[in-house]
Amino acid sequence: VERLIKGGDDAVSAVIAAASTIAADFSAVDDPYLNARADDVHAVGRQICLVLLGQGEVNLETIPQGAILIADDIGAWDLARAPLKRIGGVVCGHGGATSHIAIIARSHGIPAVLGLGDRINELRAAKEVAVDGNAGHVIADPDEATRSDFNKRVEAAAQERAGLKVFKSVTPKRADGTVIEVAANIGSLEEIEAAQEAGAMGVGLFRTELLFMRHMHLPSEDMQAETYSALARAFAPHSVIVRTLDIGGDKPIAGIEFPDEENPFLGWRGIRMCLDRPDIFKKQLRALLRAAVHGNIKVMLPMVSEIAEVTRTRALVDECAAELKAEGVEHASFDLGVMIETPAAVLIAPALAKEVAFFSIGTNDLTQYIMAADRLNPTVAKLNDVTNPAVMSAIELTAKAGVAAGIMVGMCGEAAGRPDLIPAFIGMGLTELSMSPASIQRAKKTIAAIAAER
Ligand code: PEP
Ligand code: MG
Repeated sequence: VERLIKGGDDAVSAVIAAASTIAADFSAVDDPYLNARADDVHAVGRQICLVLLGQGEVNLETIPQGAILIADDIGAWDLARAPLKRIGGVVCGHGGATSHIAIIARSHGIPAVLGLGDRINELRAAKEVAVDGNAGHVIADPDEATRSDFNKRVEAAAQERAGLKVFKSVTPKRADGTVIEVAANIGSLEEIEAAQEAGAMGVGLFRTELLFMRHMHLPSEDMQAETYSALARAFAPHSVIVRTLDIGGDKPIAGIEFPDEENPFLGWRGIRMCLDRPDIFKKQLRALLRAAVHGNIKVMLPMVSEIAEVTRTRALVDECAAELKAEGVEHASFDLGVMIETPAAVLIAPALAKEVAFFSIGTNDLTQYIMAADRLNPTVAKLNDVTNPAVMSAIELTAKAGVAAGIMVGMCGEAAGRPDLIPAFIGMGLTELSMSPASIQRAKKTIAAIAAER
C-alpha cells in the first residue's frame, strides 16, 4: 500500500489494489481452504477502505428477527448472503418486479416492494412498516385498523398455502395427457430443499451467477463440477437445466474485467462474454460434462441473439469432451438449449429450433428488450409488462417455432409462475414452466384446473 501511495495512488485505490494482489495469490493455490482466505483478504481490505472513507459498514448479519430492509438499492449478492430467514420484508427505491432482488425475495417467501423511487425517503423515520408484496403497498407506522387488516391477510395467505400442499405430488397434465413439467428456478444448493418440499419436477433454471459472485475469485472446475453433480443427483430422474454464466457490466464479479459501458444491458454479457473468455467458459462446460454422469443435466445459453453463438458453443463443448476423454476423466453428453430473451432470438426461432434441443423463454429480459424498457427502472415499470400484446405475441411466435420443430418449449421468466397467464402459455404449447419454489403448488393447481375444465 505504501509503495502504491508513493507512486501516486490515493489511499483507497492503493488498499484495493494491494488486497487484490494478495487475494490473487490465495486464489491461485490448489487448495479450497486457502482459496477461501482470498475472501478474508478482500473483506479486510474493504474494512480499511470504509475507515479511510469515514463510512461505517452496513452489516446485515446482526439484524433482528422480522426486520424490514429499507434501502435505495441493495446488491443482489448482498441480499442473497444475508440471513434471509430473519428478514421480514424488503423495500427498495430502485428496481422492479423482475429484478434479481425481487426474484431472491420471492423464492424465499419474503414480501418485497421495489421501485418506490424517492418515496423511499418517507420511510426514514418509520418504526414499523406494513408491506404488501402482492399489491406493492408500503405503509409507514400503520394504525390499528391497518394492522388488523394486514394480520388478517397474513393469516388468510398462510391458510391458502396450507391448502395448496395437496398439489405437491400432483403431476399436472394437459387435457390431451401431455405432462406439464413444473420445475424450480434456483441459484444455490441451499435452495434444493425448498424446491423439493414444494414438489418441483426438476430444475428449469439454475442461475450460476451466485456461484461466481459468492467468492472473490472465480470458482474452480472441480468446485463447479461438485455443485452441478449435487444438483443432478438431487433431482434425478428429473432434468436440471443449468444456465451458463449470465453476467454483465451491471453486476461485475471478481476475476473478470468488464469495460465501462453506457448500456450494460445491451453490452458484453451472457453468452457474448463467455465466448470471448473461453478460459472461463470452458471450465464451466467441462464441469457440466463431468456432472452429466450423475443425472439428467441439460445446459442452456443466456442472451442468445444469433445462431453462431450456438454453433461456437457446441464446438467448445466438443473440444472440452475431447480433452476430458484424453485425460481419462469421466463425463457424459448433455442436451443444449437456449433462452429466448432477445427479440433477435424470437425472430430467428424457426432456424434456432433446428440447432437446439429446447427453448426456455426468459420473459424478464424478453419483456425489457421487446418493450425497450429497462427492467430495473421504476419510471418505465408500466411498459415493462409481460402481458403487453407485443410481448405475448413474441412468446407465441417462439412457441409456434419450437412446437413446429418438435422441441420442448418452456419458460423460466417470472411470468411462468403467474396463474393468470399459465392457461395462455399452455394453450400456446409450452410444456415446461419453471418458477420460484414458492409458486409451484399454485401453478400445479392452475394447470390441473385447466385440464378439468375441458
Ligand atoms: C429472464 O430473463 O427471464 C431470466 C429468467 O433470466 P434472468 O432473470 O436471470 O435474467
Ligand atoms: Mg435473463
